[in-house]
Amino acid sequence: MLEKMDIERLDAEAVNSQKQRQVLYAPRKKIFPKRASGGFRRFKWLVMAITLGIYYLVPWLRWDRGGYAPDQAVLIDIANRRFYFFFIEIWPQEFFYVAGLLVMAGLGLFLLTSTVGRAWCGYTCPQTVWVDLFLVVERAIEGDRNSRIKLDKEPYSLRKLMLRTAKHAIWLLIAVATGGAWIFYFADAPTLLVDVFTGQAAFVAYSTIAFLTATTYVFGGLMREQVCTYMCPWPRIQAAMLDEASLTVTYNDWRGEPRSRHAKKSAAQGAVVGDCVDCNACVVVCPMGIDIRDGQQLECITCALCIDACDGVMDKLGRERGLISYTTLNDYNANMALATAGGTQPIDPARVRTADGKLAATLRHISLASFLRLRTLLYAALWSLIGVGLVYALVTRERLDVNVLHDRNPQFVMLSDGSVRNGYTLKILNMIAKPRVMAVRIEGLPQSSVAIAGIEARSDGSFLVPVEPDRLRSLKVFVTQPRHASTDQVQTFRFVIEDTQGPETKTHTATFQTPGSSK
Ligand code: SF4
Ligand code: SF4
Repeated sequence: MLEKMDIERLDAEAVNSQKQRQVLYAPRKKIFPKRASGGFRRFKWLVMAITLGIYYLVPWLRWDRGGYAPDQAVLIDIANRRFYFFFIEIWPQEFFYVAGLLVMAGLGLFLLTSTVGRAWCGYTCPQTVWVDLFLVVERAIEGDRNSRIKLDKEPYSLRKLMLRTAKHAIWLLIAVATGGAWIFYFADAPTLLVDVFTGQAAFVAYSTIAFLTATTYVFGGLMREQVCTYMCPWPRIQAAMLDEASLTVTYNDWRGEPRSRHAKKSAAQGAVVGDCVDCNACVVVCPMGIDIRDGQQLECITCALCIDACDGVMDKLGRERGLISYTTLNDYNANMALATAGGTQPIDPARVRTADGKLAATLRHISLASFLRLRTLLYAALWSLIGVGLVYALVTRERLDVNVLHDRNPQFVMLSDGSVRNGYTLKILNMIAKPRVMAVRIEGLPQSSVAIAGIEARSDGSFLVPVEPDRLRSLKVFVTQPRHASTDQVQTFRFVIEDTQGPETKTHTATFQTPGSSK
């Protein structure tokens, strides 16, 4: 097949190429990724804008909870032991919601990885997003790949010094903003911002900003791909989650090989040539410094930028896109078997093409089966089950809690008229951000009377107890029974607490002790 136009071969070395990689640690060689363009790059821009937007802006969103709770939409209020998420307020005893969300996040990651490989690493991992952001700054100041390589090789001059200073200064600003944004999730953001700038914030706020500034600057600006290769455990763990039906970024050597820099000439001479023109476009865009044509590698974060680069080359050559593509091992093996006559012959791309030069219809491509299989369906079912369970627990949860503690010493008191009195500590927890008035009474203890320290009884014997918003109110309660009504058995009865303005009612069973029952 004749090329529509010549493709320039880029002078590039995959600095982390499989062939020259050290077994364990290798000192970092600088990578100067070229700006890619294409569908995956655009998708990455979108994900980057969304994730950074969420991270930096969410603490500034307000949510009106009345005058009794903070108006920050998302707030981890450590001092008051509350977590606010828009209309949801989580108390410490409801931490299982957070645990459930973490389990869902883990299962979601399993589902994502078993379906589309390391998509988390390639698109949404904070390390990837911040490295991408730092690269945007680097390109804006020092230019694209060739300018940066040239600048790096130059001896230090005033121009180089100014460019480098500007780059590192902006990186540091981003790093400070990153650390700064983090602390705003733990206190009222506008107030804390003023406190930080006026030197009135707590030491922990400054130390957190300093720590996150350092890690963001070093990981995002200086270490970059080394964090993924050497520090992150995920590349190792994800191997257990991939199988032959998982999609990974793959160089389809069954149509690319034998690669040739002079395909036109070689083909004219009767040589077998594949679609790869060995232009290195896929190598120069790779942020990990690898060559995808070496096969699956631990370093590959499946960012798919090499797909964009190669698709651009294929477009220029007038060939079908997808020499590098998201492919499953099953599909790859089937296509390779076609190109090698079942593995008996060297690759001959002619075997995967029809007489008119088109890719054969028998080739296998991404299908719905890659997504819908037992493993992914199981992960999805578990994920949904936990999600539905959490939502159900959330919408049916009670916002009123009651606890009753019987006095232990003494368990009862004999009064001068012979009646018996038991003491209790009644705890009423108002879990909403509004004041409430609770009606308290007892049921099931014949002829008894109730007294609550500091509160007058109503005519029906019940008590109206105001409880502050989002607070626990502790009451000292005395229950008295006349001598003739007492028995020698432990009697059980119920405290009934009713919200006078809402539908919530709580009952709590308690015991009544008498001299006879304690023998
Ligand atoms: S090989 Fe391709 S998919 Fe893998 S990290 Fe490099 S550019 Fe991204
Ligand atoms: S795989 Fe594509 S981008 Fe990479 S060298 Fe071959 S033709 Fe160029």
